[in-house]
Amino acid sequence: AKSTGRGQVKFFNNTMRKKLKSHADIENDLQHGIEHNEFELYFQPIFSIQHCKVIGFEALVRWHHPSKGFVAPNDFIPIAESTGQIINLDLHLLELAAKQIAAWQQQGKRFLRITVNVSSRHFASVDFISQIHAIYNKYALELGSLCLEITESGLIENLELATKIIEGLAPLKVKLCLDDFGTGYSSLGYLHQLPIHVLKIDKSFIDHLTDTATPLVDAILSLAASLKLDVVAEGIETQEQLSILQKTQCDFGQGFLKAKPMPAAQAILLIDKPL
Ligand code: C2E
Ligand code: CA
Ligand code: CA
Ligand code: CA
Repeated sequence: AKSTGRGQVKFFNNTMRKKLKSHADIENDLQHGIEHNEFELYFQPIFSIQHCKVIGFEALVRWHHPSKGFVAPNDFIPIAESTGQIINLDLHLLELAAKQIAAWQQQGKRFLRITVNVSSRHFASVDFISQIHAIYNKYALELGSLCLEITESGLIENLELATKIIEGLAPLKVKLCLDDFGTGYSSLGYLHQLPIHVLKIDKSFIDHLTDTATPLVDAILSLAASLKLDVVAEGIETQEQLSILQKTQCDFGQGFLKAKPMPAAQAILLIDKPL
């Protein structure tokens, strides 16, 4: 028992050391990565549930690290959030998204719905509203061309502040999407108080759509309908899940069944087309 104990301690320490080291590495590398343009936005199609027509994209970051190769967002976004670098990173990615939207608009690809993830820490920072206005001006974006995705916790921790920020963005017709809906506080009381436009049903609910029993998803959909919110179902992986959703009021979908996140040049070829 003693040797097992020692072994466990040793194992734990090595794992910890490795974790800490890679954490510190990533922290150091993030700023360098922003300055050296190592981040690329991929775009995952969002499509109409009924006809599977592509109506827009969610921008998802990819990091081409010079020595580590491809690093997935879940391996650096949480670290960037804990060090505070997320504000710089988010801003850089918003700028990349705006640049891409402007390029598409110049090619006549208008009325796209492009959604960009924003961390709650950035969303709630003092300069957020003016930063978004500055980006809109810099890239001469058309009104309504940007949708921001924020998770529940980010919005409801401070309802008053969130409302103020959303109202500050209203002149630009920036849309607000509540991401991962259903996984956080799930207190429905706050929903009608928030001037948001889109609900994104979390993948965990879609995972459970394996037969006709969909009381939770039905409840979310009728709630959204009564609040006049658009609904996107994320993480659709099977034809069965899609077929079930097609029998509901769900407006839009997203998921590996139809399309994975892809580079901008590939994504734009899909616009207005059925998948
Ligand atoms: P999220 O915002 O909930 O994004 C959805 C994630 O699910 C993406 O992972 C997407 O590739 C993946 N996904 C989409 N469809 C399917 C499906 O059918 N099956 C499965 N298994 N997964 C699917 P990704 O790109 O690895 O991003 C992970 C998370 O990292 C995101 O979760 C988001 O929280 C964060 N993130 C990604 N890009 C950004 C960004 O540009 N800024 C910020 N602040 N966070 C980002
Ligand atoms: Ca998202
Ligand atoms: Ca999500
Ligand atoms: Ca998520």
